Amino acid sequence: MARVFNFSAGPAMLPQAVIEKAQAEMLDWNGSGMSVMEMSHRGKEYMSIAEKAEADLREVMGIPSNYKVLFLQGGASSQFAMIPMNLLRGATTADYLNTGDWSKKAIAEAKRYCTVNLAADTSEDNFTRAPAQSELKLSADAAYVHYCPNETIRGVEFPYIPAVGDKPLLADMSSTILSRPIDVSKFGMIYAGAQKNIGPAGLTVVIIREDLIGETLAGTPTMFDYKTHAENDSMYNTPPTYSWYLAGLVFEWIKEQGGLAKVAEVNERKAAKLYAAIDGSDFYANPVEVASRSWMNVPFTLANAELDADFLAEAKKVGLTTLKGHRSVGGMRASIYNAMPEAGIDTLVAFMAEFEKKHG
Ligand SMILES: *Cc1c(COP(=O)(O)O)cnc(C)c1O
Repeated sequence: MARVFNFSAGPAMLPQAVIEKAQAEMLDWNGSGMSVMEMSHRGKEYMSIAEKAEADLREVMGIPSNYKVLFLQGGASSQFAMIPMNLLRGATTADYLNTGDWSKKAIAEAKRYCTVNLAADTSEDNFTRAPAQSELKLSADAAYVHYCPNETIRGVEFPYIPAVGDKPLLADMSSTILSRPIDVSKFGMIYAGAQKNIGPAGLTVVIIREDLIGETLAGTPTMFDYKTHAENDSMYNTPPTYSWYLAGLVFEWIKEQGGLAKVAEVNERKAAKLYAAIDGSDFYANPVEVASRSWMNVPFTLANAELDADFLAEAKKVGLTTLKGHRSVGGMRASIYNAMPEAGIDTLVAFMAEFEKKHG
């Protein structure tokens, strides 16, 4: 068996120890005589799995007790609609920071429900930087402020948490959640599709302050109301049971690593190595302003785009896969979430130097 270093943006690598544990428990979870996949979500075995996963996530992220943690489906993309449906709470305007492809999608969806005030917009800079706090033009009548702390496609990450006064700050953390410690109390809501840094696809985690729940737009479907899920411990309907279980194994794994402070140290070092390799060469380039560079998604281009196909093919031969950049931007992108071992970065950096020597 040869496991590759998989640089996919998502679904992405999972820690090998997590997959091995799932494999060991696959046929018979903890003496139950069944796979987690076969369990009733209302049975006591599964309830214990679900509760432990939530407790571990709360511990790992330091989630205050006045926040609900919801385990939903529909991806981060469903949240783009659920947010205005649930959080406008009588207002007709919301502030959005436009910093890349994912915030654009959130904005397009919000426009179906309210007036969107672009409190920042870096499209003129081709989305190569996060806006500074001083640039934010927040509106007085906005119900909330929404932003994407890490733009997965162009690799732009906010180096700070925007200060937004007493407005709820909402964050699409799909590609940066669990990459480092964060102060959850600064947010009204945090949400993330699981398939980047939490677990397998099919699960969406929502962390929401309790007082924001309960005042939806008329006509909001039951399944799109946070209250439905908050009041039913995310078991109003059948949750994505296996993804939730695997997410729980990932939370346990983070605890075993020494928690998010330790995970952050490794992530920062991994990213620094890769950016140093890019910046130290005339052959590779990354367009993102240094202070706004993502720890998780590192796009880069080759000086000669005609070599892209060779780069990908040769990388694959040495076990480095899925380095192709997003179809909308081209070039390369190395997604280096928590589960990417540091050895994966070292192998990639060595390969890049080798490739440049041969073709540069
Ligand atoms: C991947 C991603 C999404 C989309 O998530 P889905 O779960 O596929 O809906 C949204 N926002 C960000 C920042 C992402 O990285």
